[in-house]
Amino acid sequence: MQNLSLRQWAFTGWAATLMLAACHNENKNYAAHDAIIKNIDSAVKPGDDFFQYAEGGWLKKNPIPAAYSSWGIGNVVKEELRDQLKKINEDALKANAAKGSNTQKIGDFYYTGMDSARIEKQGLQPLQPELARIDQINNIAGLLDEFAHLATIGVTTPIGTYVGQDSKNSSKQLLQLWQTGIGLPNRDYYFNNDELSTNVRNDYQQKHLPIFLKLGGASEADAKLATSKIYALEKFLADSSRKLEDLRNPYTNYHKMPVADLSKLTPEINWKDLFDKMGYKGVDTVIVGQPEYYRAVSKALKTYSLADWKQYLRKNLLNEASPYLSKPFADEEFRFNGTILSGRKEQLPRWKRVLDAENNLMGEVLGQLFVKEYFPEKTKERYVKLVEEMRTAFKERIAKLDWMTEPTKQKAYKKLSTINPKVGYPDKWKDFSELEISRDAYVLNVFRAANFWHKRNAAKLGKPVDRTEWEMTPQTYNAYYNPSNNEIVLPAAQFMIPGAKDEDVDDAVVYGYAAASTIGHEMTHGFDDTGRQFDADGNLKAWWTPQDSVKFTQHAQVLINQFNNFKVHGLNVNGKATQGENIADLGGIVIGLDAFKKTEQYKEGKAINGFTPLQRFFLGYALGWLGQQRKENLMNQVLTNEHAPGFLRVNGPFANVPEFYEAFHIKPGDKMYLAPDKRARIW
Ligand SMILES: [Zn+2]
Repeated sequence: MQNLSLRQWAFTGWAATLMLAACHNENKNYAAHDAIIKNIDSAVKPGDDFFQYAEGGWLKKNPIPAAYSSWGIGNVVKEELRDQLKKINEDALKANAAKGSNTQKIGDFYYTGMDSARIEKQGLQPLQPELARIDQINNIAGLLDEFAHLATIGVTTPIGTYVGQDSKNSSKQLLQLWQTGIGLPNRDYYFNNDELSTNVRNDYQQKHLPIFLKLGGASEADAKLATSKIYALEKFLADSSRKLEDLRNPYTNYHKMPVADLSKLTPEINWKDLFDKMGYKGVDTVIVGQPEYYRAVSKALKTYSLADWKQYLRKNLLNEASPYLSKPFADEEFRFNGTILSGRKEQLPRWKRVLDAENNLMGEVLGQLFVKEYFPEKTKERYVKLVEEMRTAFKERIAKLDWMTEPTKQKAYKKLSTINPKVGYPDKWKDFSELEISRDAYVLNVFRAANFWHKRNAAKLGKPVDRTEWEMTPQTYNAYYNPSNNEIVLPAAQFMIPGAKDEDVDDAVVYGYAAASTIGHEMTHGFDDTGRQFDADGNLKAWWTPQDSVKFTQHAQVLINQFNNFKVHGLNVNGKATQGENIADLGGIVIGLDAFKKTEQYKEGKAINGFTPLQRFFLGYALGWLGQQRKENLMNQVLTNEHAPGFLRVNGPFANVPEFYEAFHIKPGDKMYLAPDKRARIW
C-alpha cells in the first residue's frame, strides 16, 4: 500500500523463544545479560562509523547464510519462530480437522506445499485451465475480460486496482487505480545504466523470459521472439510510469473522477464492464493515481498486437505461479529473483518456503496463536504507556519549535493528540471463513487465497471504514503509520530483542530500540513530507500556514542533501524518495531522547558495562538496524525502496543529534562529524 510508511525493509516474521523487552527498571543485573555489548567492534571509532562500531562484532560473527540476501535481527526473530510454526502445521496436518476450520486450512495448505513428489508429477497441469483461457482470447474485449479474471487471482496485469480510503474524505472507501504492469521491480530498471540495472535487464531478456516461456511449452525460436515483444510492451509501460520520488506527493497522485471521464481519457477500455467482472459493484467514481499511465495503457491496447498481449499475460501467469510449481519453474524463479536481483546463493528448504507463503496468505490465523503465547496483556500495557510518554515528549518538542507559528502548532497538537495507537495485535481478528483451502494442488491454494483477499477488498466498496483493521500481522518485525486513519500500528514482534529477557533490558536500550526507532518514528510519520499534509481526521487538507510549510521544506532539504551524498556500491541514495523515512528516523531519535531524559536511569547516570545511559540509548537505537545485506540486495533497495539502507538510518540521523556528539565525544576530524550549522533539525 502506498499509504503505509514501513519502518523496515526486509524483516517479517515470528519470534518464539524470544523474550520481551521491558520499559521498567527494577533492580536487575543488566550487566550480565547485556543485549548490546556483545555486538560492539571496539576497533572502530564511534565517530567514524557508528554503525560498524555498534554492530561490527555481531556482523563478523554472523555472516549472511547462503539462502539469504540479508541477515539481521529480524531474521533471527523469524528463524526462531518458524520452528514453532512448523510444529503447529505438522499438528494441523495430522489433526483431521473439520472442513472449513482454520486448522484444516493450515494443515491442507502445508500438505499440498510439502508434497513435492505430487507437485513434480502435476507439472503444468493445475495451470492448464488458466493457460487455455489466455489462448482463447480473440479480441480486445476478451483481453480486458482476462485482465479482470487474472486480477481476481493475484496475477499482474496493466490494471492495478484496490479499494481504499479517499485521501480527501477518509470516511469513504473508493476504487483506486495505481500504475503497475511491469515485470522488473521498478521502472528505472528498464532505463538506468548502473551495474545492477544493466545486469538485471540483460538477464531478464536473454535468460529469464525465454526460460519461462520454454518451460510453458514454447519452442526456442518462439520464446525468443515472444521475449522481445513482451519486453517492448513492458518498456513502454515503464516509460509511462512515474519514478519512486514522484509517487510521494499525495496531491499530484490524486485524481478523483467520474468513470465517464476516465473512459474519455482511455477510449480503448470499457471500465464499467471491467469493474463488474473484477467484482467491484456500482462504481461511478474512481481515484486515479497516475492518469498518464492509464492513457498509455489504453494506447498500448491498440499499438501492441493481441498475440503480444497474450504472451505477456502467459508470462505473468507463469511468473506468479512459479514458486508453487515443479522444480524447473521454482528453480528459475529463484535464479532470477533470488540470485540475480538479491545475491542469494541457495534456496531456502521447502518447509520454510511453504511456511513463508502460508504466513503471507493467512498470517492472522497464525498470529492469534503467536500472541497468546508471546505477548501477554501486561506487556501490551507497558508499550501503550510508552506510546503516551512519546506523545507527551513530542508535544513538548513542538511547543519549543522556533520555526513553527502558533496557529500551525495548535493544529499539530490536535493531530498528535488524536493519533490512534494500535499496539501488539488487533482487537478483532480477520474472518477467514470464506477462504477455501483443499488438497488438490498447491498453486491452486495460492490462487484461491489471492482470490479471497481480492474479494475481501472489493467488498469494502461503499461500506463504512473498519478502523480496527490491521495491515500487518502481529508476528511481523515491522510497523507503520496510516495517514487516513491517523494511526500508528505496532506489531508485537517489533518489540522483541532476540535472546534478551524482559527484565534484563534497561530503559536506555528500550527507549532507543522501541520508543525512538519504532514508536517515535511512526508518530513523526504523521508529520513527515507526506504525512503532514493529512489533518487530524486523516484528510488531505492544507492545515499549515504557507510560511510554516516553506520552513518545513527548507529544514527537510538539509536532510535530503545529506542523503543524496551517501553512496552505496557506486549508487547515490535517493534523498528525495527517502526523506519521509529519514525525517521520521531523526524525529524518533530526538523525541525518544526527551522521553528518556525523564527516566530514573538517565537522571542517575550510572554506567552499565562501561556505557553511560546516553551511550546505551544510541546503542539501543542501532540495535534495531543490526544486520547486513548482499551487494545486489543493497543496490536493489537503493533503486526501489523509500527506506535508505539500515546502516545509513543509524549514521545518517545520528550525525545531526547534539547528544550523540556529547555521548561519544565526537570531534571535528571524525568522519561522521558535521559542523553545527550543517546539521538538520526538524523537530
Ligand atoms: Zn517509516
